[in-house]
Amino acid sequence: MIRYISSRNRLESAAPHEAVIRGLASDGGLYTPEFLPVHIGPEEIIGLPYQDIAAKILGALMDDYTEEEIRACVTGAYDSKFDSGEIVPLTKTERGWLMELWHGPTSAFKDIALTILPRLLTAAYRKENRNDKVAILTATSGDTGKAALSGFADVEHTAITVFYPEIGVSAIQKLQMATSRGNNVEVIAVKGNFDDCQRMVKEAVSNEEVKAACKGVTISSANSINAGRLMPQVVYYYSSYAKLVENGTIKCGDEVNFVVPTGNFGDILAGYIAKQIGLPVKNLICASNTNNVLTDFLNTGVYSLDRKFHTTMSPSMDILISSNLERLLFMISGNDDKLTASMMKDLKEKGSYSVPEEMMAKIRSTFRGYWTSEEECAAVIRDLFRKENILIDTHTAVGQMAMYRYQDETGDKTPCIVLSTASPYKFCHDVLACISGEDIRDDFAAMDRLEELSGMPVPSQLKELRDLPVRFRRVIETSDGMHVIAERMKEIANG
Ligand SMILES: *Cc1c(COP(=O)(O)O)cnc(C)c1O
Repeated sequence: MIRYISSRNRLESAAPHEAVIRGLASDGGLYTPEFLPVHIGPEEIIGLPYQDIAAKILGALMDDYTEEEIRACVTGAYDSKFDSGEIVPLTKTERGWLMELWHGPTSAFKDIALTILPRLLTAAYRKENRNDKVAILTATSGDTGKAALSGFADVEHTAITVFYPEIGVSAIQKLQMATSRGNNVEVIAVKGNFDDCQRMVKEAVSNEEVKAACKGVTISSANSINAGRLMPQVVYYYSSYAKLVENGTIKCGDEVNFVVPTGNFGDILAGYIAKQIGLPVKNLICASNTNNVLTDFLNTGVYSLDRKFHTTMSPSMDILISSNLERLLFMISGNDDKLTASMMKDLKEKGSYSVPEEMMAKIRSTFRGYWTSEEECAAVIRDLFRKENILIDTHTAVGQMAMYRYQDETGDKTPCIVLSTASPYKFCHDVLACISGEDIRDDFAAMDRLEELSGMPVPSQLKELRDLPVRFRRVIETSDGMHVIAERMKEIANG
């Protein structure tokens, strides 16, 4: 059986289902597979439907769940909630492919993991015959929040609280969260940025006031620091690869590149895990917006927070602390928990850390980093629409631009798959401005106009938003975070 161990202390280990319940290790580290004994060659999955690929991969990576448990989670998650029977369709562009990850219930790629995470969690609870409650605390830069709220709404044994930055998320994203259904959900805006929200959630686990309030309540996380969020993301790397074989673009065994619009480094890390367990991946191209801390890191080997935080058109990537990078450092260093812990300590105390050159060489043998300015992002959206009649969102555009840069710089002819991470209709104002120059401030008016211009249908769950009542309006100061969380824990404990 695979053990998941803390990236800061190898002795703190958990079975896969325990890692799902706990989210974050008690020392603040991230549960990471101790080693990956699994090998799944692409020939094993060609021609299979998405659900079968998911069952195979999750069964191997979370091997203390039974086959029946995994199967039930997979079929419950990947059904008609997705508006494409393929779950993750692949579309050709002139210079590559778009992996469409936004056909789920909230029109964001986070749905792929967050439709299954609550199921993995309840299955884990059943395994342990537990009856206490799990309080899911989630920080969001926009998309995770709604996908988690939708996935956990009225799920037994759970309550979910989402924190989002008051300024930064799009109007549609805010409305998606504020109108959430479910008796076990709470949505709170924070006067701060995403990193402040994430810090609050991470701190809560070890905060005394919060701990005292958690009587019969276990705190867990739906962020990509939860292993149960990460592993389902490995699946679409495989399913997209299979599609390229099936449509004759590549032969089984040929390499492909993936280009990943990156924030917290969860999505791209799942690509790395896919490569580790046998998918023929050449390069993973890490695409950043103006918050280009990862591009600089890949180029210099120094991860430094000494920089300005930018609010961009691609808010889900407006992140300075990329949490899942810690998992990569741990894996690349050969599970060196002391080194990983000391780097994270440096980050917290000095605002930066540097990675030894041998480790950087290993990282660079797979990862490339490119960043895209706001102007370039806008130009990519406009050109793709005008020349190829394809409408993409602002995050995907950052990936598309990184692909162009990579191809122009290296001349590499290996097929490139860009991960398309959100529906353009989640960012109507900006996408419309990019393609037509119109500045329509009312998001629903912009949505209608965008649909008129593009002919691409608006997902029904976004269309119906304008008629839903707003349930959540609370705004808090960052400094009140621990107290607010403690109060919420009491409320959950009292049922
Ligand atoms: C979350 C998100 C990303 C970044 O993914 P990470 O796993 O955090 O790197 C990119 N695009 C969109 C639309 C997102 O919601």
